[in-house]
Amino acid sequence: MTRTVLWENSKGDITELCFERFASFVNDHIYAQKIRITPENHNKGIKIISGADLRTKSNGFAMCSLENADFDKNTIIFTLKTKGKYAHKFNIGIVNSFDSAKDVNDGKFLYQTVSYKSEQGKTYTIEKKTFITTSRDTDGENTENGVKFLLKTSYDELFSEHKEKWQKFFDKINIDIKGDDRADTALRFCNYHTAISIPRNDSVHSLSAKNLTGEAYNDYVWWDCEVYQCPIFAYAGVESVKNMLLYRYDRLGEAKKAANKEGRRGARFPFISSVTGEEKVWKHVRHPYMQYHVVADVAWNVINYYGITLDDEFMKNYGIEMLSEISDYWVSRVEKRNDRYEILEVTGCDEHHPYVNNDAYTNYLVYYVLKNTDRLCRKFGILPKDEWLQVADKLYLPMDKGGLIPQFDGYFDLSQTLESEGGSNSGFQMKNAGGMYHKSQIIKQPDVMVLFSYIHNNFPKSVYERNWDYYEAMCEASSSLTFPVHSICAFDNNQLYKGYKYFLHCAQMDINDIHGDAKNGIHAGCTAGAWYAIVRGLAGIEMHEDYVKIKPKMLPWWEKVQFKLKWHNIDFEVVIDNDKMTIMPEAPLTVCYKGDIKLLSGVTEFRL
Ligand code: BGC
Repeated sequence: MTRTVLWENSKGDITELCFERFASFVNDHIYAQKIRITPENHNKGIKIISGADLRTKSNGFAMCSLENADFDKNTIIFTLKTKGKYAHKFNIGIVNSFDSAKDVNDGKFLYQTVSYKSEQGKTYTIEKKTFITTSRDTDGENTENGVKFLLKTSYDELFSEHKEKWQKFFDKINIDIKGDDRADTALRFCNYHTAISIPRNDSVHSLSAKNLTGEAYNDYVWWDCEVYQCPIFAYAGVESVKNMLLYRYDRLGEAKKAANKEGRRGARFPFISSVTGEEKVWKHVRHPYMQYHVVADVAWNVINYYGITLDDEFMKNYGIEMLSEISDYWVSRVEKRNDRYEILEVTGCDEHHPYVNNDAYTNYLVYYVLKNTDRLCRKFGILPKDEWLQVADKLYLPMDKGGLIPQFDGYFDLSQTLESEGGSNSGFQMKNAGGMYHKSQIIKQPDVMVLFSYIHNNFPKSVYERNWDYYEAMCEASSSLTFPVHSICAFDNNQLYKGYKYFLHCAQMDINDIHGDAKNGIHAGCTAGAWYAIVRGLAGIEMHEDYVKIKPKMLPWWEKVQFKLKWHNIDFEVVIDNDKMTIMPEAPLTVCYKGDIKLLSGVTEFRL
């Protein structure tokens, strides 16, 4: 990141300040800054203070206390400890590019300082390199060694290594759009945030709802991770997506305890998860806890990951066990009613309707999970439990005679309008704070439509059209997770301009601060969804275990869209221009186009 400021003080002295900084992509412990100062029209003194601000707060609370600090000529090494039960430790080493004239520890700041008598027009450059290790790290690095390394490695060397590695990585996630700079810039901003968010080295933590940008939602991991964020990395061939699956696997023990506490079998993953894997849902709003669908989402991600990567080792060592535990949970969670299995008392994805029976998203997904657990167990030579298929085959999958799927039991009996009583007219994640949502069909975000877009449920065209028309109109979109779903549904239904508008809404959500809350952190699921709206939506690419399905479309006012993907270890590049989609695979690639399965052995064009 570079920032250049031309600053004029009240006396008319003009100084150019140029800040440059990066967090190393080669070594996660390294952060570096370079600052250039040029007095443009004066020769006033320059004083540099370089160190650490000890007053840092998290969610308004001072989090750290200083344990010790050692100063040397141009270095400061110090240890911070967080308060509370986790008591994380941070060992931080700072290497300044100047020998200190004075070392200061005043309880608020820790710094070294130097002063220059400046000369007009001359540029003064200061570099600061920092090495941080924490008690959550798993790679055994230590700050003292890190500081020794930084003392002999220049900022420019660190930067060029960083740039090279970062460019290779970003290239996997990047999408180039020609003919629409506004869309291209916004999407690049989103893809940048998606790319940097992934824990590449271990599974201590996973993808959170604000990525690395804000403290709202406390960095917790939600279903957004499995359904909205992981698929991007899996499609793009970013191997560390496996860490997200291992993050859940590592917390299987905690999930089993949670199921046991409910008097059920198997594993019940928390709706809001942190480092320990315990349920972290806020105690004052219990209904998100009822979003049992997260348990199926975790399984769906395993199945989806396997279909894309064919990572047999993962399945043998972790995946099959996760699927089996999750299927056991659902078998003990369903209830026999009306001569079928039903899933009662849940909250679906739409948080405006808590405590419902037979939420469509949950029921259809559980069916998919049970069927695939059975299939994959057989594939890996493990005997599946009969009860998985028995329950799947009798599980209630709601749909009326005309193909419309009720979001939950009794949904269509509710009013299609929204009455209000009291309250103000806008509220937290509700467009109408006094809205009687429980009496209305107005939903916060898609539930049924997630099945059509992200989950690849193969419903007939007429069913898709009916549900999309219906639920688009009922959705007030007060969760940003709405927009990628709506963009994909619109593209799938050949509503190109609408698909584009919803895509742009995703892509510009934070860079244009459309919802006015970017200060709390970016909307990570929506941001990742901007990528998916192009790849899954516009290009119509769905990765299945047997083939890559394509249904390309193009916006007539764009010139070209280009990106890279990976399926079954085969890298391929996709270019769409105004009359064709071109696929360039590195090895033979199995594609399904208009119902035909073909093996593409080289560059292949598909007319639009
Ligand atoms: C949405 C949830 C989502 C959470 C975190 C809520 O507003 O309704 O679906 O998981 O935000 O992004």
